[in-house]
Amino acid sequence: MSDFSFRRDWITKPIFRWAQHVLPSLSDTEREAIEAGDIWWDADLFTGNPDWAKLLAFPTATLSAEEQAFLDGPVDELCRMLDDWRINWELGDLPPEVWDFLKAHKFFAMIIPKKYGGLEFSAYAHSEVIRKLSTRSVCAAVTAMVPNSLGPGELLLQFGTKAQQDYWLPRLAEAKEIPCFGLTSPEAGSDAASMVDSGVVCRGTWQGREVLGIKLNWHKRYITLGPIATVLGLAFKLYDPDHLLGADDEIGITVALVPTHLPGIEIGRRHLPALLAFQNGPNWGRDVFIPMDHVIGGVEQVGKGWKMLMSALAAGRGISLPSLSAAGVAFTAHASGAYARVREQFHVPIGRFEAIQERLGRLAATAYLLDAARRHTCAGIDHGHKPAVVTAIMKAQATERLRVCVNDAMDIHGGKAVQEGPRNYMGSLYRAVPVGITVEGANIVTRSLIQFGQGAIRSHPYLLKEMQALEEPDRARGLDEFDKAFWGHVGHSIANAMRAWGRAWTGGLFAPAPDAGDATRFYKPLGRYAAAFALAADLALLTLGGALKRQEMVSARFGDILSELYLLSAVLKRWQDEGRQQADLPLLEWCMEDGLATIERRLDEIFANFPNRPTAWLLRFLLLPLGPRRRGPPDRLTQACAAILLEPSATRDRLTVDIFHGSGDEDLARLERAFDLVIKTEPLRHRLHQAQTRDVAKARQQGIINDAEAAALEAAAQAVAAVVAVDDFAPEELSPRRASQGEVLSKAMSRPTAAE
Ligand SMILES: Cc1cc2nc3c(=O)[nH]c(=O)nc-3n(C[C@H](O)[C@H](O)[C@H](O)COP(=O)(O)OP(=O)(O)OC[C@H]3O[C@@H](n4cnc5c(N)ncnc54)[C@H](O)[C@@H]3O)c2cc1C
Repeated sequence: MSDFSFRRDWITKPIFRWAQHVLPSLSDTEREAIEAGDIWWDADLFTGNPDWAKLLAFPTATLSAEEQAFLDGPVDELCRMLDDWRINWELGDLPPEVWDFLKAHKFFAMIIPKKYGGLEFSAYAHSEVIRKLSTRSVCAAVTAMVPNSLGPGELLLQFGTKAQQDYWLPRLAEAKEIPCFGLTSPEAGSDAASMVDSGVVCRGTWQGREVLGIKLNWHKRYITLGPIATVLGLAFKLYDPDHLLGADDEIGITVALVPTHLPGIEIGRRHLPALLAFQNGPNWGRDVFIPMDHVIGGVEQVGKGWKMLMSALAAGRGISLPSLSAAGVAFTAHASGAYARVREQFHVPIGRFEAIQERLGRLAATAYLLDAARRHTCAGIDHGHKPAVVTAIMKAQATERLRVCVNDAMDIHGGKAVQEGPRNYMGSLYRAVPVGITVEGANIVTRSLIQFGQGAIRSHPYLLKEMQALEEPDRARGLDEFDKAFWGHVGHSIANAMRAWGRAWTGGLFAPAPDAGDATRFYKPLGRYAAAFALAADLALLTLGGALKRQEMVSARFGDILSELYLLSAVLKRWQDEGRQQADLPLLEWCMEDGLATIERRLDEIFANFPNRPTAWLLRFLLLPLGPRRRGPPDRLTQACAAILLEPSATRDRLTVDIFHGSGDEDLARLERAFDLVIKTEPLRHRLHQAQTRDVAKARQQGIINDAEAAALEAAAQAVAAVVAVDDFAPEELSPRRASQGEVLSKAMSRPTAAE
């Protein structure tokens, strides 16, 4: 600490004392969650003045030749092997040959380095694999996703000792071991750190020798791959009543690898998550003994389990569920557009109805947005970031938007998507929605506590430094550091207040914007709202302090604004990276109009509900003097986006690139064929319409069309009938007392329907 400083000793010191009471206090688990991972584009947004040149210069995500070959080879082959109806309703599991294929082609080893026998894929390649699988079978996608996300593999890579890595990673790569990860228990869901599962340090017998180890007791539930796992990554609270490790009785959350064949373990029972047949179930351990070297990272890492988990989650949360969700939205957009084109009611394709176009427009634009954000996030991870706030945003926003899009797609399909059976290509995705919403941090808690609550502390340019200074045990040093951070913060806030006010009152006219063609005009309002967000966030923290944690509705709205700023940045980047495709412009415009309107609405709601009224009035005066003015995408724009899904085009292909289209007489392929035939025969139908007839045979007789044209119309009509057809079953086929579900449903599947 320097000798004397008037500013520090006379001005900062009283503020330092006051701030110790005002700034949010953090529990150990909160601190570890906040300090996990790093900051990235979120930090730029928090400055209130994001550097657009930096965003646009950020490298895009790309695949290596080897990764591309994997997608075109084993992933395609696997997709062709999958039959979701059979998996979910007949087998209740992936078929044995699919398990073998997954293991043989190392789908469970995408994150494991080559030196251990894994594939060592980039985050982007990993995401692309999950994305393609998700458009074929949610069960297969979840099965492939789990060993590559939070669990033994990831934890060993980050924290394992060399001996642990050398032993376990090759076994995981070769799928000699199937991993699962057990954190959740009946008592501890979202508040996972409150688990009662315990380990007690003791001496015990391991392979005939007496060693220092841990006696474990637990009850976990909801564990994916649990019923078939051979190794369980177990999180528990460690106690040391006999002080065999040190002076502390309570050591804290610890993570260990537990072979599931050990005596005392009960594992194998299954849950039925949303009637999807991926392996998921509870497990129990009673007085299970493991040696100390089964703790991931060894004895050095006892008590550090929470930090390890948060660190592993920081990147992983941005890959699995966002990829599944982006794939789901692309799939629903693609299928709904095609279906709306081939399905006629009131003698016109339903896609011509404005109310259907309203849904289609949203589907198309959301597919554009989510894939933009997915690619940008993967690029960030591949460049070494572990952006905890960005990945939390991605997880919550992607799964939430999938929910909206699947509902839109269900409504567009009507009864066709409701009636379950092999012909329903929407049912599994519909049922998968709540799974994505719930896992890896349930969305309500992620939106209201993590996105902004933790994000404000993590991504803010000064706040975390101030909080760390306040908690510094050496008070003199703490004051010194606080002095630097605090005055930096004050300067930043003043500059930001001027910027936010100026931009708000000029409608962002003078906000910086790069030359980005037709997208240039959107950088200005985005810069305006980034400044508004940064100022409002600063004042919320200043006036609410620790109470902000309990003001979840306010915090959630801040989280929404930060999310929109991130997602819209990614959309602008995609437009630029793809060479400013003019035909895609309606999609970009829709996303921007919708997102900017959401930001204004959330600011308005924050000011209306902010507990400190004078601050709310000041913020409204500075940032939203005329109230919310944006109304979201105009109808003509929504219709332009809908049109993209109703016609074949390069834009339509770009939206759905690399989803699995199927082959032969399968759902999506069948739909694609009908779509194709309907488009090709459109001029013929137009001719019939002008001749005021819908009767193909009569039109042929009257010479309005020739034989070949009549045959083409007939083929199109048959293709459409095959798409519109749904499954039906004899009552006894659906009886709960049926002897063998598999046998009966197989029969049902092979039975021709009325349309055939
Ligand atoms: C299919 C499936 C697979 C899973 N796989 C695994 C796995 O492999 N390993 C594993 O360990 N776990 C797994 N989980 C568990 C999952 O992570 C938990 O379900 C999740 O953490 C939520 O816990 P909970 O279901 O007990 O809900 P609860 O914690 O009871 O939450 C209920 C609701 O309350 C909300 N809520 C809770 N606290 C707050 C708060 N402070 N503020 C606002 N809202 C709040 C939540 O957002 C949620 O909406 C899985 C779950 C499912 C359903």
